[in-house]
Amino acid sequence: TDELTGLSNRRDMKEKLFYETNRMATNRKPFCLLLADIDDFKQVNDNHGHDAGDLTLQAVSRVMQAALRKKDVISRWGGEEFLMLLPETSIKEGRNTASRLLKKITGHQFSIQGTVLSLSVSIGLTQYTPPEDLEKAITKADRALYQAKSKGKCRIESV
Ligand code: GH3
Ligand code: MG
Ligand code: MG
Repeated sequence: TDELTGLSNRRDMKEKLFYETNRMATNRKPFCLLLADIDDFKQVNDNHGHDAGDLTLQAVSRVMQAALRKKDVISRWGGEEFLMLLPETSIKEGRNTASRLLKKITGHQFSIQGTVLSLSVSIGLTQYTPPEDLEKAITKADRALYQAKSKGKCRIESV
């Protein structure tokens, strides 16, 4: 578990991804990976301090988790980057989920130490297709995220 947010940490997520790829060999249902990175998060730290940044990460985690289904797994993949596993999910459903997630974040007023912040995330989306390499699927999500950032942030891109 990630100490700050209570989400899965990177190692736990890797285990769950591995489990899901094995499970897929029998149930044959695709899953989606969604990689979300908070837009301009450095500004939160710069303008409000590192503690406020930490509180913001916790609040964002809660909002994102609440936007997901029970069977979905959300992890803190890096500093302000979150990798999500959506089991038994087509790319179309994955896109809907990503869209709902983005709306929840942009529509939320984050009340941090008496200050109200508005935030957005950029999201990279990909479907895992066997017998694709897991690392390769994660790289695809990362590439999609990079596209979302370079196209202006606060958006979803898929590969
Ligand atoms: P972009 O929209 O391109 O993602 O810009 P950004 O500012 O979000 O990205 P950048 O990579 O420049 O900065 C990320 C910042 O996240 C820098 C780092 O200090 C901060 N950060 C990472 N982990 C933590 C953490 O655990 N707590 C706090 N408070 N800040 C963190
Ligand atoms: Mg960021
Ligand atoms: Mg980042």
